[in-house]
Amino acid sequence: MPELPENEAQRLTLERECLHRTIEAVELGEDVTYIELPGDNERARLVGRQFTETRRHGKNIFAGSKTGPWMTVHLGMTGKLVPFDAPDDPPDHTKLLIRFEGDRRLAFQCPRKLGHVRVIDDPASYLEDEGLGPDALEVSCEQFVQTFGSTRSAIKSALMKQDKMAGIGNLWSDETLFQTGIHPEARANALGEDVLSDIHAAMRRILKGVVRVEASYEDLPEAWLIRHRKSGAECRRCGGTIVSTKVGGRTAYFCDKHQK
Ligand SMILES: [Zn+2]
Repeated sequence: MPELPENEAQRLTLERECLHRTIEAVELGEDVTYIELPGDNERARLVGRQFTETRRHGKNIFAGSKTGPWMTVHLGMTGKLVPFDAPDDPPDHTKLLIRFEGDRRLAFQCPRKLGHVRVIDDPASYLEDEGLGPDALEVSCEQFVQTFGSTRSAIKSALMKQDKMAGIGNLWSDETLFQTGIHPEARANALGEDVLSDIHAAMRRILKGVVRVEASYEDLPEAWLIRHRKSGAECRRCGGTIVSTKVGGRTAYFCDKHQK
């Protein structure tokens, strides 16, 4: 599932390819019964408008303008925003197609369930209604220590709770704990302030690193877990073995030697 850095890369794509172009039509794709998409009236609100800015909070992408309305996209498991130019055809599994003036098009491609597109008035009140915590790249160290220092659940599960902090999922929680040497099942409130500060710093460094390469994983350092994230692989930090276990229903990968 796309997390903060993958969504940030998609936001950048929108920013580069889709701003300052008048929207001529917003059309539904094929086989859209199982996915939440804006209805006729909501889609009509976008027609004649231009996106002039983009934002991202956690795993939510926004495109809109000062006076609104805004479009918000959640990529779900496998969603993707694909800009292209007519007369090229939209990609397979296009659920929503925006036609801008001229040839530019934007497809929301989503082969599986989950994921949605909504038309909203403004991002700030939307985020409040959704009950999301602060974005993982915005949360301060103090806030982070306070939030997770008072959480009894396993640290991996806690990091993925979007109402505590938005943007982290399975991949980057594993990477953060791998790089700080913390076992994914360690209780968050037993870790102490210093360790939580270390986790916060590592998380920021990792997220910024992935954003920098626009989520192109092969450009990340060899020593990172993401490059060897499978059971039985050798840990490039300590020579231990990468193993997996279920934590809160999700598969966590970690090193059996240096993550205590
Ligand atoms: Zn190791």
